Amino acid sequence: MRYSGWQVLAQGIMGNRGWRPAWRDPAPKDAYDIVIIGGGGHGLATAFYLASEHGLTNIAVLEKGYLGGGNIGRNTTIVRANYGLPGNSEFYSHSLKLWEGMEQALNYNVMHSQRGIINLFHSDGQRDAYARRGNAMINQGDDAILLDREGCRKLLPYLDYEQTRFPIYGGLYHKRGGTARHDAVAWGYARAADQRGVDLIQNCEVTGIDIEGGVVKGVQTSRGAIRARKVAIVVAGRSSQVAAMAGMRLPIESHVLQAFVTEGLKPCIDHVVTYGMGHFYISQSDKGGLVFGGDLDFYPSYAARGNLPMAEHVVEAGMTLMPMIGKARMLRSWGGIMDMSPDGSPIIDKTHVEGLYLNCGWCYGGFKAVPGSGHTFAHLIATDRPHEAAARYRLDRFATGRGLMDEEGTGSQHNLH
Ligand SMILES: Cc1cc2nc3c(=O)[nH]c(=O)nc-3n(C[C@H](O)[C@H](O)[C@H](O)COP(=O)(O)OP(=O)(O)OC[C@H]3O[C@@H](n4cnc5c(N)ncnc54)[C@H](O)[C@@H]3O)c2cc1C
Repeated sequence: MRYSGWQVLAQGIMGNRGWRPAWRDPAPKDAYDIVIIGGGGHGLATAFYLASEHGLTNIAVLEKGYLGGGNIGRNTTIVRANYGLPGNSEFYSHSLKLWEGMEQALNYNVMHSQRGIINLFHSDGQRDAYARRGNAMINQGDDAILLDREGCRKLLPYLDYEQTRFPIYGGLYHKRGGTARHDAVAWGYARAADQRGVDLIQNCEVTGIDIEGGVVKGVQTSRGAIRARKVAIVVAGRSSQVAAMAGMRLPIESHVLQAFVTEGLKPCIDHVVTYGMGHFYISQSDKGGLVFGGDLDFYPSYAARGNLPMAEHVVEAGMTLMPMIGKARMLRSWGGIMDMSPDGSPIIDKTHVEGLYLNCGWCYGGFKAVPGSGHTFAHLIATDRPHEAAARYRLDRFATGRGLMDEEGTGSQHNLH
């Protein structure tokens, strides 16, 4: 079934009784060419691009819970290509271009909104850093405008410009940045992959990886053994646990990241805004809720929920930046498990086991990466060669120390920034 305006009209006239399920619910087969472990954004996008770009359809995506129940349905939905370092710069640029054609490619409304993102700066040093980053973005072919204080005031009149502690000096404006509806991205990729013949198998936890003579042979699951010629691990916060099934110890720590949403309000925040002196960022959802977040909870955990000290910290930062937020009532908060790599950049690579591939280390920035990650990971799995946009995301950089991409300049311990 193709989605369109006519379809909505026709179904409305027929009492909405003709809609069909967005994807099938198949039983797992005994064997596949490719098994993808993890039905989050990255796993589903990988399946879609394997089918659509490489003609490979004998694929299963195995998801231990339900599609979209992980970080893909928990993030604060920011999409941008404003990275500064070689490696990241070309990858996120590639990903943003895929975002811009995603709704047509998937025939699905993911509510991608390029409303612009403004990173505020509050000192001369921060201005220099953002000017450098803006130049790197422009050199990559993306957009960046350095705003002064008055430029910010015109776009963001509701900020507190009079505060003496962290005065706002200006902001880096990335117009093509914005937001998208997070779970629609999972559903869109799921539906499009299913339409091309991929089996999406929910409630199917992988409990072991079968390896013989250094070659992958398949997986053990809560729904029985499944043979496969190639197996891809794409499980975000659970990466260390699943890779351990293949005898690997990953340079990944799992940390909690929280997000918050207020009651629905009339439109008041038109952009995505980040605060340069407190880890705080905010946008307004299409339902009207103010969606905001802050930093990690600063302890490794597999609990998909956070604690109050970070909630207090985030709300304090929000009040400092935009006191009007104190009038809004907070509705909910939740957490997700982040796969933090030591240099803050991801891994898309083969492993020491033939036929076993790894995709992880997205830290708190993997939503915007979904199309780019799926596209380049599918290329690696299909051709056994890295895609040029993701060629620097090698696993061995942590062992050799060569090619590290410390994007945030926080050193090797992300919990110390
Ligand atoms: C609060 C919060 C805010 C964020 N904000 C942003 C943002 O604004 N912008 C941005 O770019 N990024 C953001 N992120 C990060 C982004 O959401 C993640 O980096 C990204 O979603 C991770 O990839 P994924 O979608 O594949 O992960 P997930 O959706 O977590 O997918 C992994 C899946 O693997 C499954 N799995 C695990 N173990 C097994 C197993 N043994 N067998 C089978 N299945 C298994 C899990 O159930 C899960 O569904 C945020 C994250 C959080 C939590």
